[in-house]
Amino acid sequence: MGLSLLQSIKVGGYVVKQRLKGRGKYPLVLMLEPLFRCNLECAGCGKIQFPEETLKKRLSVKECLDAADESGVPVVSIPGGEPLMHPEMPEIVAGLVKRKKFVYLCTNALLLEKRMHEFTPSPYLTFSIHLDGLEKTHDRLVCREGVFKIAVSAIRAAKARGFRVTTNTTVFEGERPEEFHAFFDFLTNELKTDGIMVSPGYPYQKAPDQEHFLQRGRTQELFRQILQPSDDRVSPERRKAWQFNHSSFFLDFLTGDKDYQCTPWGNPTRNIFGWQKPCYLMSDGYVKTFKELMETTDWESYGTGRDPRCADCMVHCGYEPTAVLDSTASFKNMWTSFMDTLGLSSRRGAAAKSSGRPPIQYLPILNQREPVQKADEKREVVGAGRD
Ligand code: SF4
Ligand code: SF4
Repeated sequence: MGLSLLQSIKVGGYVVKQRLKGRGKYPLVLMLEPLFRCNLECAGCGKIQFPEETLKKRLSVKECLDAADESGVPVVSIPGGEPLMHPEMPEIVAGLVKRKKFVYLCTNALLLEKRMHEFTPSPYLTFSIHLDGLEKTHDRLVCREGVFKIAVSAIRAAKARGFRVTTNTTVFEGERPEEFHAFFDFLTNELKTDGIMVSPGYPYQKAPDQEHFLQRGRTQELFRQILQPSDDRVSPERRKAWQFNHSSFFLDFLTGDKDYQCTPWGNPTRNIFGWQKPCYLMSDGYVKTFKELMETTDWESYGTGRDPRCADCMVHCGYEPTAVLDSTASFKNMWTSFMDTLGLSSRRGAAAKSSGRPPIQYLPILNQREPVQKADEKREVVGAGRD
């Protein structure tokens, strides 16, 4: 099981409660960015290109907890920057767990082994480790050798201490489906992680590597090859063992079995500038309160077909809320989703056949990626060894 049953039940209950209250728009996951500083400089990252004075700033413990209280969300995701570079991160996490929020601390793991003792294992806390593939691929994408080994060692240590650990993978153009299959086997059988998250990269205008972001049709094709390989490529038993930490309906969206519009208000973002309009991925300004964000954002003007910046976006922070809302829209959908969560459904394998599409064509993957040439190889990287 990828998504924990406790989380599925609590989030499902939260959605039903909001519907009974007649709320039209309500958040599911708070994207809490307490700082933008990071100890890596990945080529596909659109979060770290701020000036030094911005990188020095961070949210206080109170600001983080107020954001969770104000929005009332059941789940808090803490990306960044690198959250473990925030000195008060243990207090922030403890405060959120005390409020019974499901916390996903998203980290590149460089500092995890060093700081792990400051956290307490809980069903409400998950370390979500950034891993974009097996060793060579991950180190290439994060533009630094040795990071994969550090992350794997930290995952083993966290599991040994009783923490819940998932992984978080961004899929870029040019990556090979076969490698993802081997990668999922490694996470499942060797590391025994508690769930796998996958999402296509969003083409951040500020990211140095623009060439390898996926376009929508290409995303669906690649995700079909990754998530729905034919039996002769990956046996059903092997495929069934992979546990994804997503709503199964979101995976259907990635493979093109479902067509959704974005729900940008589902995952509101709070960072050092305030509440970001409209979503985690792009900014059309900031407001001071969550109420103001909900009431003054023109939500209907965002999403595929509405804003050119959204054209190719299929990222989970916009579309997983839609999938979650759909999975609770009827008893039939709730039942399907529940059976998927328990791993008792054979629906995923059948989905491609029942959709009436032709069988997957294993097309050559375009633009096999070359190592990313960084503009300035001598840039200082604030590394784990110096913290
Ligand atoms: S680890 Fe995450 S925040 Fe840091 S540079 Fe890479 S993608 Fe950006
Ligand atoms: S589609 Fe949604 S999540 Fe994606 S960039 Fe647009 S508003 Fe943001």
